[in-house]
Amino acid sequence: MRLRPETRAVHSAATDPASGAIVPPIVLSTTFEYETTELEHDTDQLIYTRWQNPNRASLERAMAALEGGASAHAVSSGSAAMLTVFQALNPGDHIVSSDDMYFGIRVQLNEFFAPWGLKTTFVDMSDLEAVRAALRHETKLVILESPTNPMIRLADIAAIAEFARANGARLLVDNTVATPVAQHPIQLGADIVVNSLTKYIAGHHDVLGGVIVFAEGDELEERVARLVRIGGGVLSPMNCWLAARGLQSLSYRLRAHSESAQEVACFLAEHPKIERVLYPHHPSHPQYDLALRQMEFGSGLMSILVKGGRETAIELVNRLELFTSATSFGGTHSLIEHRESIEEGTSTPENLLRVSIGLEHPADLIADLRQALA
Ligand code: PLP
Repeated sequence: MRLRPETRAVHSAATDPASGAIVPPIVLSTTFEYETTELEHDTDQLIYTRWQNPNRASLERAMAALEGGASAHAVSSGSAAMLTVFQALNPGDHIVSSDDMYFGIRVQLNEFFAPWGLKTTFVDMSDLEAVRAALRHETKLVILESPTNPMIRLADIAAIAEFARANGARLLVDNTVATPVAQHPIQLGADIVVNSLTKYIAGHHDVLGGVIVFAEGDELEERVARLVRIGGGVLSPMNCWLAARGLQSLSYRLRAHSESAQEVACFLAEHPKIERVLYPHHPSHPQYDLALRQMEFGSGLMSILVKGGRETAIELVNRLELFTSATSFGGTHSLIEHRESIEEGTSTPENLLRVSIGLEHPADLIADLRQALA
């Protein structure tokens, strides 16, 4: 039977054969009994929990299936997922990266990997000519985030995948904001997809995790699989279990986040004290057509530019009652954040607030925004 993603997500973990439990047990044992003669050192063999663990294997299978990939590797955070891919490259390799992405990734490339010999060219991924011009003979990887955090810019994944392939480079897409429910980078031609599990996938502001999904098993995939197991930046059994649980309701949560965000974006776009709303599925977004084509849902993340500058934006944060002034996104609670204050070496506008729409009723969120803006 061909199952739809919602059904597959619910049935992603098999019933526990030992007990019949339909919710898988959390396997905390760090070590597993094995037959010496049966040691194969394959990536899924249960020997020691850094190598593989039942909860990790189950989450990885579910993530690979959801993204339409061949394999997945669950690590300690979304940042660690990117770090692992960069570590699997060689000094002298060249990366073409989006100039607008989660700032921590830019810091990794500039502060740690540049001295180590990885060269990076940062480009505006919405400018296809600039992407093509940045590709070099030694380019091994193109990385993009779509939508970006916090500028909510999109990149045409299919077009960039074609450029990368023609140049012999792999395309890595950070799918954290859209999630595998709303956007399918591998179908569009990406070779690697990274998700921070910390956001929508775990979905409750209580798990830090990341996953690297490969469209197919190639040399880079093998290096990443070994790096995860030898280096040990793996996701703990408890966090794998929580992320796998989150995955079961991801489709329905993302739909609710997106519907509420759509309503909030429409309200804010009309408000006289708001200069601009950046939300992929709002018609005022400069890449609205691409957003409709590439993303099934708009997701729950948006940014707003407040009229009046930095102080007015921060005052708005302080006047809100339901939105918490906090970083991160993708969880049950609505959050708002003045991004320029938290990002290192940033060009984010000083009047920008990033808004994560949670699972509260949208009418209550709009009422709160209305009182705070009054
Ligand atoms: N990718 C995106 C788009 C993010 O927004 C973040 C964090 O905010 C990360 C990756 C890093 O994920 P983590 O916080 O799990 O390390």
